[in-house]
Amino acid sequence: MSTVSEPFDNFPGTYAWDVDERSFRAEIRDYLTQDPAPIFDRFDLKTSLAEMLAWHRRLAAAGFPLPNCPTEFGGRPRSVGMQLVQAEEMAAVGANFAVNIVGISMLTPLLMALGSAEQQARWLPPVAHGEELWCQLFSEPEAGSDLFGMRTTAIIDGADLRVTGQKIWSSTAEHADFGLMLARTEPGSTGRRGIGCFVVDMKSPGIDVRPIKQMGGSTEFAEVFFDDVTVPVANLIGTPGDGADAALKVLAAERSGLAMGSYAVFAAQFQELVRLCASRGTSGHRHALAKLWEALAVQRLNAIRQAGAETEEPTRVMALAAAGKLRGGTLSVMMQDLRAELLGMEIAAVDPSDQAAALVSERFVSSLGLSLGGGTHQMQRNAIAEGLLKMPRS
Ligand SMILES: Cc1cc2nc3c(=O)[nH]c(=O)nc-3n(C[C@H](O)[C@H](O)[C@H](O)COP(=O)(O)OP(=O)(O)OC[C@H]3O[C@@H](n4cnc5c(N)ncnc54)[C@H](O)[C@@H]3O)c2cc1C
Repeated sequence: MSTVSEPFDNFPGTYAWDVDERSFRAEIRDYLTQDPAPIFDRFDLKTSLAEMLAWHRRLAAAGFPLPNCPTEFGGRPRSVGMQLVQAEEMAAVGANFAVNIVGISMLTPLLMALGSAEQQARWLPPVAHGEELWCQLFSEPEAGSDLFGMRTTAIIDGADLRVTGQKIWSSTAEHADFGLMLARTEPGSTGRRGIGCFVVDMKSPGIDVRPIKQMGGSTEFAEVFFDDVTVPVANLIGTPGDGADAALKVLAAERSGLAMGSYAVFAAQFQELVRLCASRGTSGHRHALAKLWEALAVQRLNAIRQAGAETEEPTRVMALAAAGKLRGGTLSVMMQDLRAELLGMEIAAVDPSDQAAALVSERFVSSLGLSLGGGTHQMQRNAIAEGLLKMPRS
């Protein structure tokens, strides 16, 4: 086993003094040295996702499965400190935490809270073992921030739901096996009432996935059209009509997952910025670097705080997740701005055959994504105002 020199020793936190967590870091780092994470290539998403899932399978088989999934479903419960260690170490070797984020960070906690025993047994083990890829089918063209303005319907017809409508911005939908979906199960209902949260098999007849080509050339999102798609009623999670409750649980879990995962990625990228600053930074850049360090340290504490918050009152859980997500989005832009200042035109002048340079450029272009995906900054501020500051709803 390797001797661990802590890359995050200077960050405030408690885990670093815990012997188990230190040895866990050494253990996972040893494994990652032997089986490095594949490089994520968003321009060849199909191959890349398959490689990442295969790597996830090996990781799980080697004893590093999902930290937030019970053992009987193929996971291994870990302390919050260990979850953070696993996220940090994976990010440090460039493993893309977002692969299967829907299965790992959203579906798993949702099924543990509201899923039936059959649903847990069917869908959790393949997620824990990296066998099935999931996507999230929440946003619609007129229902993004206003999620409960959704119009897609899932009408109960005997033992089936018949689903008709459209979703948009569904990440990796083109390659996903299953979708976690929201639609109106009660025709004519509005707002939070009459919504169902259910699982849809993405290979079902009547589903048309149309990838959206992004400014940078990749196609990570898709529009998904449903034309009288049949889904078993047994796929409904929680009480039919009460899907808003499930949706809010998913959003809180998504935002917490994004906060912890993005923190770990930024902490890894921070080391690169330190090196860049040392070789070409001015005193202004060094001040910006120190501010970043401070923001990252706070985000680390946020991640620890959130991961231990599940039992708190729901609006508070949502607000804490919102705070982490908000800071994650802010950090993303701060980091890429500093990198752009240090690199100047090098950040844009990309030789397409130079994968490392293309990655740096792509990070810059996509740095705003975290301030939108999982809910915009304004929506996070609304959640904080209501859930933590107890302001009236606007
Ligand atoms: C990287 C990324 C990945 C994504 N992945 C998925 C996915 O896998 N599945 C999925 O379903 N969706 C996904 N989305 C969609 C995402 O959830 C929505 O883009 C987001 O919720 C905003 O919705 P919208 O784009 O419709 O913008 P709108 O809701 O139209 O918002 C437009 C602007 O108005 C502001 N605004 C709206 N309402 C309010 C309000 N009440 N108070 C203050 N300001 C307000 C917003 O903050 C924003 O600035 C993804 C988005 C991104 C960027």
